Amino acid sequence: SSFDQFGLDPRILSAIARMGYETPTPIQEKAIPVVLKGGDVMGAAQTGTGKTAGYGLPLLGRILPKANTSASPARHPVRALILAPTRELADQVSTNLEAYAKDTPLRVGVVYGGVDIRPQADMLRRGVEVLTATPGRLLDHVAQRSVNLSQVEVVVLDEADRMLDMGFLPDISRILQLLPASRQSLMFSATFSPEIKKLAKQFLKPDPALIE
Ligand code: AMP
Repeated sequence: SSFDQFGLDPRILSAIARMGYETPTPIQEKAIPVVLKGGDVMGAAQTGTGKTAGYGLPLLGRILPKANTSASPARHPVRALILAPTRELADQVSTNLEAYAKDTPLRVGVVYGGVDIRPQADMLRRGVEVLTATPGRLLDHVAQRSVNLSQVEVVVLDEADRMLDMGFLPDISRILQLLPASRQSLMFSATFSPEIKKLAKQFLKPDPALIE
């Protein structure tokens, strides 16, 4: 079995080959077709399973057909948003997404707290289509209007259980309310606690694909 079976864009396949990925992991086998079709996903997956590529590759495939090569920031709205609990995870996810998007015109960026906000705001104002963020810092950018989330087509909650443990539920709720209701939502968690199920019920479409 190889990555050719999914019908991914050749520019994504070339990046996969460059990364040295030959065979999809089990979570990738299951998640890639569902995400490419536009379905919502509730996934049980820990780091190390290939989860990032499981959502990242098809997410890029979803937004790529409309990718714009113009320099104007207005033409590079955030179209995919990935929320992560920590700076380390956000950085790691964004580094992977950048590698997967390398042969495409899509712009990839990351924001997190604990560092100067101004370079991040400048980057956001130039425009990025694929933004990875920790929730608190993202809301800081929303408050100072360096980012507009009204055109997000796909949102990912990565390590959702850890985000809840860290008290990010109010921030996540506020962020999700800023997104179009018609968006696609993907949620990954190592555990399926009642709180996680409640979050899924609140923010995913009914009957999301369950991936374990
Ligand atoms: P993740 O679980 O997303 O943190 O990925 C764990 C590691 O596996 C990362 O270093 C990825 O680059 C790598 N990886 C993901 N998918 C594959 C694959 N299909 N084949 C080989 N390595 C992979």
